[in-house]
Amino acid sequence: MRHYFHGGIHPSDGTDKRLSNQKPIRVYTPQVVEVSMKQSPGGFCDAVVNVGDKVAKGDLIGKPVSFSGANIHAGISGTVTEIRIDQDAYGREVKTVVIQADGTGNEKKDSVCEYEEKIIDLSGYAREDIIANMKEGGIIGLGGAGFPAHIKYETKEKIKYILVNAAECEPYLTCDHMLVMEHGYAVINGVLLLVKASGADKAIICFEDNKKDAAGHLQDIISNTELPVEIKILPTKYPLGGERQLVEAVLHMEVPAGKLPASIGVIINNVGTAKAVADMVIGGNPLTSRVVTVTGKVREPGNYLVPIGTRFTELINLSGGFTAENCRVIEGGPMTGHCLQIGGTHEELMGSVAKTTSAIVVLEDTSKVETPCIRCGECERVCPAGLAPFKIDFAAIEDDIDLCRRLYATECISCGCCSYVCPAKRELAYRITEAKTEILRHKA
Ligand code: SF4
Ligand code: SF4
Repeated sequence: MRHYFHGGIHPSDGTDKRLSNQKPIRVYTPQVVEVSMKQSPGGFCDAVVNVGDKVAKGDLIGKPVSFSGANIHAGISGTVTEIRIDQDAYGREVKTVVIQADGTGNEKKDSVCEYEEKIIDLSGYAREDIIANMKEGGIIGLGGAGFPAHIKYETKEKIKYILVNAAECEPYLTCDHMLVMEHGYAVINGVLLLVKASGADKAIICFEDNKKDAAGHLQDIISNTELPVEIKILPTKYPLGGERQLVEAVLHMEVPAGKLPASIGVIINNVGTAKAVADMVIGGNPLTSRVVTVTGKVREPGNYLVPIGTRFTELINLSGGFTAENCRVIEGGPMTGHCLQIGGTHEELMGSVAKTTSAIVVLEDTSKVETPCIRCGECERVCPAGLAPFKIDFAAIEDDIDLCRRLYATECISCGCCSYVCPAKRELAYRITEAKTEILRHKA
């Protein structure tokens, strides 16, 4: 086999994914949504509604005030009952818009559109209009980072390939897998729009070989066509879904350190983002909902299509509640997600679904004690970014941010491979990610 990508691990045998991918996606509309005006790590918005305003599903409720922000729209029709000020993990103030449903337009199922059932003729869609629509619809990367999608397409670089990330390499997560299985035509139409928006030669939709059914489904849709789309099945290895790892594995190219994939003619988008582009550009629906995997130690693991702002506690309720005594609740996957709560009940769980919330994973909390590094070198062997995690960790503990920088901590993709393999149970990924954030903050 040709060179795949450096490092990486095999954290699961697939049984964790089977918890949630055996049943169809359930659609759920809550009576109340709490929509944060920060939908991604750097994506700050300000509310453009006031308490007492009536809003319809799809109405604009937030406008960006930072470079990484994107429009936010109401996920349900109702009345704005509260605009409260919350704090994010760094103590920064963020507004949350609370909408109470009024029973108009929330119960009826959106009718199935043509683009959900067949390949659409896109010859009438101009590049500029597609990009403008992506911006208007508040579409951000749904794979995790949440960067506004349209900015990637405003590049001046010549783009050759769109890589559509359907790898979903994190354990437990199945929301992308199920989305492809149930919305294959919308995904392909979205991918074709991305090809048009970029002027790329073709798109390559990338799956791990534990999702051959989803890959086969899309292959069936494009078979006997001349569409500029290729389906690629790759060996399962974490973190294939990392942008640099995907480029390395699929195109056998390297994204230079400190540069974006566009610098070598590549744009990468998550498969959910492609569907969201079709929903907006063809269907006229801004990004107001997403599929969330709720899994792990819950009674009924599954995938839910819910409005942005659906409270986490409600999602756990839908899934039948916790099944372990002492639970750790993670937003996102167990490797890269962030911990929402340790211990307590699901009624105490704070927060709500953001555009970047791929999953709520509930794990049994087991005590973990860090011991001194034994210099086994395992963390270095598995690091996909080619770093020496134990060295950066020592520098981070010493608060030597300049040494962290010289050891290339900014190249860390926070994949968690180093922490996963460390026999001394050292919190490497956490401390290195903190150091990286600090370096970038100094730089800014
Ligand atoms: S140092 Fe960063 S990129 Fe390398 S394994 Fe650890 S978390 Fe992943
Ligand atoms: S894996 Fe853990 S014990 Fe081994 S070198 Fe890295 S930090 Fe040290």
